[in-house]
Amino acid sequence: MSASTQPAIDGWFATDESGAPYLIGGKCQKCGTYVFPPRANNCPNPACDGDELAQVPLSRRGTLWSYTENRYAPPPPYPAPDPFEPFAVAAVQLADEGLIVLGKVVEGTLAADLKVGMEMELTTMPLYTDDEGVVRIVHAWKIADKGADQ
Ligand SMILES: [Zn+2]
Repeated sequence: MSASTQPAIDGWFATDESGAPYLIGGKCQKCGTYVFPPRANNCPNPACDGDELAQVPLSRRGTLWSYTENRYAPPPPYPAPDPFEPFAVAAVQLADEGLIVLGKVVEGTLAADLKVGMEMELTTMPLYTDDEGVVRIVHAWKIADKGADQ
């Protein structure tokens, strides 16, 4: 049995030496604006005509900016499960970049557990198992461990 895992979408996150996942974003080389998911061109800042975005690691932590439960389909690349199961989606403002990144919240954490302004931490969760038995994973948000990194 292989326990191998692979990202569901290449290039959205990576893991550091300790195995902790981090998102990869695009950063405009002209004005410094960040974008996620990463892309190579087209600065998102309407006041900037920069067209070269570098791939950079993003903060692993951020502040819960908004969240929802059950009201919207999950953002790509999450499939809509059938039958539907309650889940929360969080919009987290990254600590250093100020960028807001949508992600599914880990299983077992629902809207009642969340509060705007709370510290969130990046993690990963399985999305599906492919034909070769590889577990495909995506980024997700969990409530940050209290005390760490404070
Ligand atoms: Zn720019």
